[in-house]
Amino acid sequence: MKILLVGAGLSGAVIGRQLAEAGHDCRIIDSRPHIGGNCHTERDPETGVMLHLYGPHIFHTDDEGVWSYVNRFAEFVPYRNRVKTTSQGAVYSLPVNLHTINQFFGKTLRPDEARAFIESRADRSIAEPQSFEEQALRFVGPELYEAFFKGYTEKQWGCSPRELPASILKRLPLRFNYDDNYFFHRFQGMPRAGYTAMIEGILDHPRISVALETPYRPEMAEQADHLFWSGPLDGFFDYSLGRLGYRTLDFERFTYQGDYQGCAVMNYGDREVPWTRITEHKHFSPWESHEGSTCYREYSRAAGPGDIPYYPIRLVEEKSLLAQYVDLARAQERVTFVGRLGTYRYLDMDVTIREALDTAGVFLGTLSAGAQMPQFSQLPL
Ligand code: FAD
Ligand code: UDP
Repeated sequence: MKILLVGAGLSGAVIGRQLAEAGHDCRIIDSRPHIGGNCHTERDPETGVMLHLYGPHIFHTDDEGVWSYVNRFAEFVPYRNRVKTTSQGAVYSLPVNLHTINQFFGKTLRPDEARAFIESRADRSIAEPQSFEEQALRFVGPELYEAFFKGYTEKQWGCSPRELPASILKRLPLRFNYDDNYFFHRFQGMPRAGYTAMIEGILDHPRISVALETPYRPEMAEQADHLFWSGPLDGFFDYSLGRLGYRTLDFERFTYQGDYQGCAVMNYGDREVPWTRITEHKHFSPWESHEGSTCYREYSRAAGPGDIPYYPIRLVEEKSLLAQYVDLARAQERVTFVGRLGTYRYLDMDVTIREALDTAGVFLGTLSAGAQMPQFSQLPL
């Protein structure tokens, strides 16, 4: 079969590879001048530092299948994401852990004492937190919420944490020990040569051809038996029902001689500081040494037409518009919508790869079984 895949990010690359290995001819197009989608990495010509051009990417997963898949295409160096945050004139460790609690409240609590102390600050009248704010008040209490989450979240999402779902905060652990690892997962690492080199390896197959700087045009689909779409869901339909909301990011690059902040990610909890965080990219590759340093100040705002869509905003009005687009998508017989943009979800890389492997598997199974494609079956509305 002739397969057209729109998007040379992880979704397009992994599905393309699976189908190519099964004997299908895959043409992958991307409007950008590089492969890798938002995981793209490249060296800064000025400092030599490996840059995560679309924001910091740390690979973390519990999925052994995905871990062995990525290790087929890249050498991973163990990496722990240890985030710091500046708030009210002091620097703390994130996620909130025993060190953060003791430092913030000027105490020397042991784990059980800290647990009881935080519980005493928490609003126990909130039985089932619905919003981000309720989740924070119930589990960390007002002081830590104000210092670390309220201002940051207002900047990141452009709305009150009262309007956001509790699930966003649930992504972050709260620890009553001195573990400052940002993630829980068993496998965590950074590809030594960058993500783009890894994706280059995935795409390196004689049945895969890649065309960059090639935006999708509907007539391209006519030459293909099936289309996998990892671009924006509403974009496929020419935004005919309106635009799904996204946050976009602006990165303000600056360089420094030496070590600017001593860590890879420094968050800024105060509402008055306009950026959400500063990333210093050489710390994502601690096995390298560079005199110069490249940093990004990161700002978040509502995405307009022409901006890169980063974070889907899944508030009430988006959900009803999304439901309408999903109906349109379900009616497409020869198109499968995949990935972060194609299914309008926040997806980590490991989940993206898992879904891409599964989607390809179902597609290949379908070819022999003649069953229907289950596109959107995993899409929670
Ligand atoms: P994308 O990478 O967005 O690829 C889609 C591609 O489609 C793009 O290259 C785009 O140019 C192309 N395209 C779109 N429309 C068209 C069109 N009309 N014609 C042609 N091409 C088109 N995950 C983690 O696991 N760990 C992290 O630390 C992490 N950090 C992140 C930080 C940020 C700021 C963001 C936004 C995401 C982060 N992620 C992280 C998630 C990760 O970026 C995604 O899981 C991954 O990029 C999804 O891959 P994808 O192929 O689905 O989408
Ligand atoms: N968050 C916060 N303060 C921080 C870091 C995170 O309030 O210092 C909130 C913010 O709303 C963010 C959410 O917690 O969207 C989830 O954090 P995560 O690090 O997963 O954010 P992402 O990777 O989505 O940027």
